[in-house]
Amino acid sequence: MKGKYIYHPVKNFGINSFRIKTLLIFILVLNTGLIYPQHQIPRISITIDDPTADSADVLSWHQKNGKLLKTLQKYNIKAALFVCGKRINSIDGFKLLDEWNNSGHMICNHSYSHSYFHSKKINAEIFKNDFLKCDSIIKKYSGYTKLFRFPYLKEGDTKEKRDEFRQFLFNTGYRNGSVTIDASDWYVSSRMCDTLNINKDFDITPFKQYYIEHIYSRALFYDSLAFQLTGRKINHTLLLHYNVLNAMFLDDLIVHFISKGWEIINADDAFSDEIFSSQPDILPAGESLVWALAKETGKFDNILRYPGEDSFYEETGLNEFLFNYYSKKNINNSRKK
Ligand SMILES: [Zn+2]
Repeated sequence: MKGKYIYHPVKNFGINSFRIKTLLIFILVLNTGLIYPQHQIPRISITIDDPTADSADVLSWHQKNGKLLKTLQKYNIKAALFVCGKRINSIDGFKLLDEWNNSGHMICNHSYSHSYFHSKKINAEIFKNDFLKCDSIIKKYSGYTKLFRFPYLKEGDTKEKRDEFRQFLFNTGYRNGSVTIDASDWYVSSRMCDTLNINKDFDITPFKQYYIEHIYSRALFYDSLAFQLTGRKINHTLLLHYNVLNAMFLDDLIVHFISKGWEIINADDAFSDEIFSSQPDILPAGESLVWALAKETGKFDNILRYPGEDSFYEETGLNEFLFNYYSKKNINNSRKK
């Protein structure tokens, strides 16, 4: 690994041409669906959290595995799978992981219990033991990779908890499996499944459309922010979840990114970017790594919301999107009659 990433917020932020370049990129992206110059190609990798063999929702885990792995294979992409131990601690769960491992994807740690580290009831000691419990499950896989993703991207609400766990990760040879592009795919998926559970034949086209627009708009936001912070194109890690929405439409999402000039890269290539060695000094710690680095500068407070992403930011937009889609469809259908 390269030397520690040294971040110079004042120096970087002071170069106005970065802002101008970013603005130009934004205008080009919004208006032309641009093709990027070679050195400015945005790169993105797929990371998937919380595989589960537990729930029998719209698709079984066999079906979700099949669709996700087929899509990743189609584009020859290796993803990082962040495993929450309690969700796969069963015969089926181990079969699920076997398939990912045998397909060459990275098997990483996402804790055993998915605890909220910012809870007053969770101290660093409890969190460490929970981390080790998951580590003992995943270490047998050939794709085992020492990357840890904090549940809910919460890295510690006090300096003591944050720093103690950072030191612990370092001592165990782990790195933070940070997200650079955060989003709320899980919310769109849960809403879509609620609909399909009522009527499995319902037209779910607008869920797909909203999902693609939502993920892409968050990608543009975090990519622009990262460029303003570093003056370069970083390798991104996109946070997605193991759910029905991604199983059905990850292929469409990838096609969309490619059509906009993005390159899809392997997760281990993304994590080799030196930005993943940075440790932002903020409290509470966590969120997207790009969010945290921006927060650390104190210069982006007008555009940084907390938490970075959540369902309540999407609820109204999704409702309006669905309403418009189905209203138009109903009008068109009634005209045909
Ligand atoms: Zn999670």
